[in-house]
Amino acid sequence: MQGGITNRDVKLQIAKYFPWCPFCCSEKLEIDVEPDRAHDYIICDNCEAKWEVKIKEKIRSIKLVSASVGWKGKELLEKEIEPKFWQNKAWLCILTRRNPHKS
Ligand SMILES: [Zn+2]
Repeated sequence: MQGGITNRDVKLQIAKYFPWCPFCCSEKLEIDVEPDRAHDYIICDNCEAKWEVKIKEKIRSIKLVSASVGWKGKELLEKEIEPKFWQNKAWLCILTRRNPHKS
């Protein structure tokens, strides 16, 4: 990330928008943050979806760069989308999940 924020701040911000994976509802998200790198990444350990996060002081946009194993989200690939969109999608995932034991 870039701008005067710490790794911890970045992770807190990301956790707010990505409480769990918006595709598979898994909480096993890996947040890959490094100082002075243009982009940071969020990777779902469960469905292997991967996002690129653009941060300048705060999160500007989050782009899906790899779809999930089941190709969920392929229509969203390579689009820079506001973080709120992903937050809503994550909540929708939980709310519409019919088989909670399947996580
Ligand atoms: Zn996932």
